[in-house]
Formats: sequence, structure tokens, C-alpha cells
Amino acid sequence: MKEAIFSGMRPTGSLHIGHYLGVLENWKILQENYKCFFGIVDWHALTTKWQDSADLKAYIEEMLAEWLSCGIDPKKSTIILQSLVPEHVHLHMVLSMLTPVSWLERNPTVKEQARELGIEEQLTYGHLGYPVLMAADILIYKSKKVPVGIDQVPHLEMTREIARRFNFHYKEIFPEPEALLAEFPKLLGVDGRKMSKSYNNAIYLKDDEKSVNEKVASMITDPERIKKTDPGHPDVCNVFSYYGVLFKSELFQVRERCEKAQIGCVDCKKQLAKKINEILEPIRSQRNYYLSHKDMLWDILKSGSNSASSYCKNTIREVYEAMKLNY
Ligand code: SF4
Repeated sequence: MKEAIFSGMRPTGSLHIGHYLGVLENWKILQENYKCFFGIVDWHALTTKWQDSADLKAYIEEMLAEWLSCGIDPKKSTIILQSLVPEHVHLHMVLSMLTPVSWLERNPTVKEQARELGIEEQLTYGHLGYPVLMAADILIYKSKKVPVGIDQVPHLEMTREIARRFNFHYKEIFPEPEALLAEFPKLLGVDGRKMSKSYNNAIYLKDDEKSVNEKVASMITDPERIKKTDPGHPDVCNVFSYYGVLFKSELFQVRERCEKAQIGCVDCKKQLAKKINEILEPIRSQRNYYLSHKDMLWDILKSGSNSASSYCKNTIREVYEAMKLNY
């Protein structure tokens, strides 16, 4: 039997090309080799956006439409909506009882997120405790591996500590999950900063051709290249880094033409935008199709969540038995 793994995304807005390359392309490989549970983790979205609960439904539909358009296949993976699998919450409740507050208070990510969102003074119990919910999401499937980027490895440590604490006090039920590291190609935003919704510098999967053209046209290139006849320095150019991630086969040629001043930045960007549009076009049309078939989206979520719930019930039964709560 294939090993189970869980990975999820918070439904807080449209996905960008960085999500496509960094996460969804990896999930497509994983779904061929593992028993994958991919979760739209709506409880996690509420940890920071609890006032915006009315927006969640549309975000959930959009996220699933984008996953499917990028090739996440409900016949190969179990796609769940976290709030439709109550076992996640049940295990979260159990793990909350045994997780010391001091572990949560030393988590730098919560403080950083709260600072970014300007909610340092209003940190909620749910937000502080999100690592416990994350631990429940992973441990409920008894996942031995978790797909993460290198920068997320420290976050996994808390899940391992919580599993260890449960196993020590009650019974050896949970594996201590290891990071399943993936080499995520990193794309910067069009302004050269980290690609992020809050910086308004991302190329979204839903962007139409015109928006992609405009965003690529706005990208900063080699600042020393004033005229088209000046030889360029591709290694300092964000446009070139996009070629490096998206169109490796073109890399040598672009470098040569840039360094020999055989191509101007305007044409180089136009060529890049055209290629990005070629990638996005089928995703856009699939996305529109799914968003006009919302019943189908909810059927996928309900069916996946029901099947995950049956799977997770075994873990909950074992947990309650170990704790002598099987009354
Ligand atoms: Fe960048 Fe292309 Fe201009 Fe060279 S020609 S500096 S790679 S945009």
C-alpha cells in the first residue's frame, strides 16, 4: 500500500505562478507515488482572517478550480476541505491538551505573521495554536513524510515534538514525520522582491494575456544597460531568472544574445511574456470551466472529505483507546 502524505494550502486568495511551480508541480509528481491527501485548509485561513469568513467559500472554489486546472487529479489524490473532515479538529483538540504554551510562544512565524498583518496586539488563541492544528493535519494520516521546502523544515519540528509527547505519555501511535524535501524553483515578484500578494507583484494563474504582458514589461532588468547596443549582464536581471526557472532550454541563447547586445530588453520581455501566456492559457481556460461548474467542485470536495474522514476514523479510535477515552 502506498504511504500516506498530507499537504495543504490556506484559501486566502488567487494562486500565482510561484504556487504553480513551487507546490502544484511537486504535488503532481507526488500523486503518482504516494497516497496523497491534499487539503484546502479553511480552519487555517480563519486563524488570521476570522473576520473575513464570508469570503472563504469563493476562495475555496477558486483554489480547487486552480488545483484541478494545474493537474491535481481527484482520481489520483484525495482532495479534502479541512472543515469537512471533523477528525482533524478532534485530533487538534487532543493535541491542544498536551502542547505547552511555551512551545507556541517561541514560534517566530506567528510573531512575524502578526507583525505583517498588524495584529500583534490582537493575537488570537487560534492563531497562536495553528502549529497544533498543523500537527493534527499531518498526524491524523500518520504521515511519515511531509512535502516541505527547506525553509519550512523548522515548522515540522513542532509536529515531531507533539507526536513524541503523545507517544511517550500514552502509546506509540504516531510516526515522527520527516521532511520530504523538494527543490522548489523560486521566482521573485515582478518588482524583484519576494513574490507575494501583499506586495502586489505576482503573476496570477488567472491573469489575462494583457495583464501578463504589462507585468512582464514592468520588470526591472540590468540597470547598467541603458541602450540596446550596451552589452547586458543577465545574472543581475530578473527577466533572465524567469527564463532560468521556466524556460531552461532558452537560457544559453538568451544569455548569449543579451551579453552580445543582439536583443533589446523590450523584445526579451515580449518573448518571455509570450511564453508565460502559453503556459497560462490552458490553465486559464480550465479554470473558467471549473468555476462555471461549482457543483462539480463541491462534489469533489465532499467525496474526498468523506473518504478522508473514513480513513482518519481509525487514527482517532486508536488515540481514544490509548487515552482510555473509548467510552
Ligand atoms: Fe535581461 Fe533580457 Fe535585457 Fe538581458 S536582454 S538584461 S536578459 S531583459
